[in-house]
Amino acid sequence: MAVVETECIVLRSYDLADADKIAVLLTADHGIVRAVAKGAKRLKSKFGSGLEPLSRVNAAYFQKETRELVDLDKVEVIESAFDLVSSPELLTEFAYLIDILIACLPAEDPDPAMYRMVNASLSAVREHPEAIRPISLYFEAWLLRLGGFFPSWEVCSICDLAIGDDLDAQVGAEFQLICSRCRKSSGGETLTAIERNIIQRTRKESPMTFASEPAAEDSIKKLSSLLKRMIGRATGYERVDRALQAGVQIRR
Ligand SMILES: [Zn+2]
Repeated sequence: MAVVETECIVLRSYDLADADKIAVLLTADHGIVRAVAKGAKRLKSKFGSGLEPLSRVNAAYFQKETRELVDLDKVEVIESAFDLVSSPELLTEFAYLIDILIACLPAEDPDPAMYRMVNASLSAVREHPEAIRPISLYFEAWLLRLGGFFPSWEVCSICDLAIGDDLDAQVGAEFQLICSRCRKSSGGETLTAIERNIIQRTRKESPMTFASEPAAEDSIKKLSSLLKRMIGRATGYERVDRALQAGVQIRR
């Protein structure tokens, strides 16, 4: 039985039989790990508040080669999630982001870049809670990119020429872009140079920089809706954005 010590972010924890809990952890070195925390439901559990979702902790667990679940031995909180779950809007958004992260990431697939991205995004929300929507878009873009689900938006998928400043590149059925010279029909979904540049920014900037100079709200909303459909296609995960739909109905 191997002992593993690693930094991780608690994604979720739920009750198991008796006094135990299961914690779903995004580890820095071993991808997503599911751990049994024995006695975690007891008042004086050794895990304390270390299993609160979105806490960043140092964890030690025992791993048996034959078992999918590991046995959590201890957790030490590095950064509590207290300030991240301060509003219902943040809670709802994080519940969604955790869902798609778990849907996109195969179990125990070590991806240090994914860990760094999630960690940096959480730090950005701590600093700029008002920018939860832009940070969420950043998160969605990187999830697609790191999962290998993001087509190149630099070039037209038909003629292979740079899309450049093309004003309205069309979004194809596979979410690839088609330049205005190649598109056969007008109408359909298009992306402006400004909107494509926002996605470029997510590639080049840290989430903190991206959040401190957020793009126009309408563009963030449009792009996020498109990326949600891309994630849905890639993972089978679908979320009906009720708040967004309600907003649209009120305006009509
Ligand atoms: Zn073209």
